Amino acid sequence: MAEYTEEEIRELARKLLEEVDHTKVDQHTFRGEQFDRGLAFIQFPEGLGGLGLSSRKMQTVVDTELRSAGVPYHDLAINPIGIGMGGPVVLTYASEEQKKRLLRPMFTGEEIWCQMFSEPGSGSDVAGLATRAIRDGDEWVVNGQKVWTTLAHVARWGMLVARTDPDQPKHKGLTYFLLDMQSEGVDVRPLYQITGDAEFNEIFLSDVRIPHENVFGDVGGGWAAAVTTLMNERVALGGGVPKQGTGPIADLMHIWEERKGSLDDVSASVMRDRISELWIQAEALRLTNWRAREASKSGNPGPEGSVGKLMSAEMNQKIYELCMDIIGPEALTFEAGYERNRGDGSSWARSSLKYSFLRSRANTIEGGTSEVMRNILGERVLGLPGDVRVDKDINWVDVPRN
Ligand SMILES: Cc1cc2nc3c(=O)[nH]c(=O)nc-3n(C[C@H](O)[C@H](O)[C@H](O)COP(=O)(O)OP(=O)(O)OC[C@H]3O[C@@H](n4cnc5c(N)ncnc54)[C@H](O)[C@@H]3O)c2cc1C
Repeated sequence: MAEYTEEEIRELARKLLEEVDHTKVDQHTFRGEQFDRGLAFIQFPEGLGGLGLSSRKMQTVVDTELRSAGVPYHDLAINPIGIGMGGPVVLTYASEEQKKRLLRPMFTGEEIWCQMFSEPGSGSDVAGLATRAIRDGDEWVVNGQKVWTTLAHVARWGMLVARTDPDQPKHKGLTYFLLDMQSEGVDVRPLYQITGDAEFNEIFLSDVRIPHENVFGDVGGGWAAAVTTLMNERVALGGGVPKQGTGPIADLMHIWEERKGSLDDVSASVMRDRISELWIQAEALRLTNWRAREASKSGNPGPEGSVGKLMSAEMNQKIYELCMDIIGPEALTFEAGYERNRGDGSSWARSSLKYSFLRSRANTIEGGTSEVMRNILGERVLGLPGDVRVDKDINWVDVPRN
């Protein structure tokens, strides 16, 4: 396995910056160059956006260099589901030809990805899903409904889990498909959130045909690929290592500086205590994630990725709740110009604190709820007794449902 020193990686990033002026080329060109030089997914093989390193920790060196030079592109704003979850899934399950076809436009943002797991009757219990896929020669025919599908309205590819054998217990009869969202029979409809944005959608699938070569993993083995996706999702959502004092905690510090003069002494002291506590928590999380990244090996993360997801989701909510407390009654109003958007993902980084407060309510639900994260950590990391699962060994078709 190739290894580079930190200095060598920094040199490669600087060379990219010297030779490709990000102020003169567009996002796709800059990120395409980054991919071709192996600085996109540093732990992926050469030719597939990486340098074949044994861990992804050196990616932080690249990202820091690019950020310091003012390169504005951030993976989570470009193609959060593709880069955060689709990349590792493609690397693990796709054919060589598919890897070559899919990874580059995923990284540049030319092809957006979405994740089609949740259904009206299956969210936390995603293994209980009902969307059905039936084989027809070299194709599969899919019928069903998905919900909460982030960015489906701009996505080219969907990571779809469907039931291919209802006569097996729920985890065993699932298959994982790569769905071309431009296929006939895919109907994407917006769902609006309390922020006014429709980040996500419901999707109706009517006789949608998927070629057999787009099955990732084994037929009936979809649960393993789904778990790979979910573990990577948790790291993507909660495993970031931002610069000290940036991100949501910076929003809190900023509004505190702006408003502290208007608070009486008692309120100011209470707020100061609450801010200090959150600042310490934010820093502890940042350092924990940093340590996790340093220790990470190439390959997919395990259940410990749920630590960052759980902590960051709950902390974000506390931070923005405190911002609203500092603002006071003004927090009850929303900015003029409130409008219903159907964004492409790049516009979510809003400057408005009230928007961030409303958006943070979703943090403890998306990517798995905090209760589910606690179950995973309890069972799979701490080894505590498992949750009650009465339907685990019953064939899916025989499980009573309404
Ligand atoms: C902003 C946003 C974006 C999303 N994007 C996507 C997406 O792109 N693709 C996708 O597939 N899904 C997406 N989701 C869906 C998300 O994964 C689900 O909402 C989530 O997994 C919870 O499922 P549910 O909504 O069906 O709630 P339920 O599973 O019905 O849960 C309801 C309540 O019961 C609790 N609960 C459930 N089971 C247990 C248990 N075993 N132990 C203790 N408590 C339990 C939950 O914690 C929750 O409080 C998104 C959700 C949000 C909010």
